[in-house]
Amino acid sequence: MLTIQAQSKIPTDYGLFTIYAFSENEKDWSPHLVLVAENTDYKKTVNVRFHSECITGEVFHSKKCECGQQLDAAMKYMSEKGGMIVYLRQEGRNIGIINKLKAYALQEQGLDTVEANLRLGLPADGRSFDVAVEMLNLLDVKEINMLTNNPDKMKSVENSRIILKSRIPLEIDSNEINAGYLVKKKDYFGHFLEKI
Ligand SMILES: [Zn+2]
Repeated sequence: MLTIQAQSKIPTDYGLFTIYAFSENEKDWSPHLVLVAENTDYKKTVNVRFHSECITGEVFHSKKCECGQQLDAAMKYMSEKGGMIVYLRQEGRNIGIINKLKAYALQEQGLDTVEANLRLGLPADGRSFDVAVEMLNLLDVKEINMLTNNPDKMKSVENSRIILKSRIPLEIDSNEINAGYLVKKKDYFGHFLEKI
């Protein structure tokens, strides 16, 4: 069972957050994290983003996806309006960084993001967002607005005790490299992308 292993304030370029580390075991070196903006009011509808780790996009500013820009935009939004980011250690739609790099290598040969995963014998999307719902429950969050384009994330909340009040789009402009990836997100995964 997940528990809060540690928590601390973290000042950022976007404002002050409290960061919580969740894991089953305190020796877990990659716990899931929740960043709660300073002005979050738990008595009101809480703005929430479920965000899956993407080291290439967030740390190294890869142009192959829009994860880094989405995370920055979400931090800015939460800092301004109140809310929290549930940061899930689900690198590469939960295939891990090694497999993600293998999939990228296949993409260099012309496969798209889905075909590459399937060629490796991996799911197109191996994520479950139930763990994120569990963290919201542990933080006693009852009702949320969700900052997302992903219907699967919304379904995970709709299937829980938490009330999903509304969706807030989080759409980033495409670039010349990630446009095809975003089309796949829209057409294959059904993401709500208006600009593509
Ligand atoms: Zn990414």
